[in-house]
Amino acid sequence: MGRAIIHLDMDAFFAAVEQRDFPELRGKPVIVGGSPERGVVCACSYEARPFGVRSAMGMSRALRLCPQALVRPVRMGRYREISLAVFAIFRRYTDRVEPLSIDEAFLDVTGCERLFGTPVEIAARIRREVREQLGLVVSAGIAPNKLLAKLASEQGKPDGLYAIREEEVESFLHPLPVGRLWGVGPVASRRLENGGIKTVGDLQSLSREYLERHFGSFGPTLFEMARGHDDREVVSGGTAQSLGHEETFDCDLWQPEDMERELLGIAERVARRLRRLGFSGRCITLRVKYSDHISVTRSHTLARGEESSGEIHRIAVELLQRTEAGSRAVRLLGITLSQLGQRGSGQESLFDEDDRRRRETLNRTLDGLQERFGEWGICRGSLLAPPGRREGGDGDQGS
Ligand SMILES: [Mg+2]
Repeated sequence: MGRAIIHLDMDAFFAAVEQRDFPELRGKPVIVGGSPERGVVCACSYEARPFGVRSAMGMSRALRLCPQALVRPVRMGRYREISLAVFAIFRRYTDRVEPLSIDEAFLDVTGCERLFGTPVEIAARIRREVREQLGLVVSAGIAPNKLLAKLASEQGKPDGLYAIREEEVESFLHPLPVGRLWGVGPVASRRLENGGIKTVGDLQSLSREYLERHFGSFGPTLFEMARGHDDREVVSGGTAQSLGHEETFDCDLWQPEDMERELLGIAERVARRLRRLGFSGRCITLRVKYSDHISVTRSHTLARGEESSGEIHRIAVELLQRTEAGSRAVRLLGITLSQLGQRGSGQESLFDEDDRRRRETLNRTLDGLQERFGEWGICRGSLLAPPGRREGGDGDQGS
């Protein structure tokens, strides 16, 4: 018995939320992003795409291509709130939900037929619920594994539902450009195309040994992907949900006192939003962007969820001391809480005080390890991928 995997990906997520919240933006080219002088496009509505506007493009270039575009600032906190509601709908059908980003997930619905219908019916129901309850569009791909499900949802976009049955895998993959496969970036694509390999069908003609010789350890993966093989499980449990707030300053900050004062305001905003949603968060991440646009993050994971602004601020200030803020000028500060849970769910009572302290020490060690993975690897879902660092698909750039 094969598996049934659904890949769900919100269409133009950030831009769609703006159009949802502000009706005057509907049907118009909308760009979500930074300032026209130095920002980048984080997302754009489908109305902006015929002009050539794409996410990760410089704002000034995007506005030259589409001068009539309506530009909206990034409201990450709002997108995270909506994302929580989207994932709550996903979880009505299965607890096997693997978040890939703020607006994208894999669901394993193997064996859910008796309760909810066929995988295609489940995907259609989820799409309907997201549309009716949230006023947003989610595209779905249904296939026997993650690789194919993700390719299927891309195929269906926008506003699509696309299923690949076991017996259709071959004919689906054959005409696909090699660049559509995971991990095949522009460099690998060019190398393959120079060798006359343009489609996945062409790729199938190459032996495992040949691919290993030319692509090293990636070779065998290419060989398997060309045949639509992918055994990876849907890994649930983790949550990509996070809530946060960032402030960019008109003038760079030099004084630690000024930064601490700004952090208090940010902590209060985050805490307010957490309380409104009835959540607390265990992982507190501070983001610091220096005046040269280099940014770093520092995180701390607590044994139990926190939602008070005082405590969030205290930890953020501690984290600030582990950055170069003060000896370098700072242009942006942000605080994100992740590993969210329902507030007061009673989990903390399972641990006595000693236990709690031991876990905190362990968490600190883990945090130290996590930091080595750099800014974008720390807390899944606190992502707003910088340009040029996107991996496969459209991530949370809201396509
Ligand atoms: Mg998307």
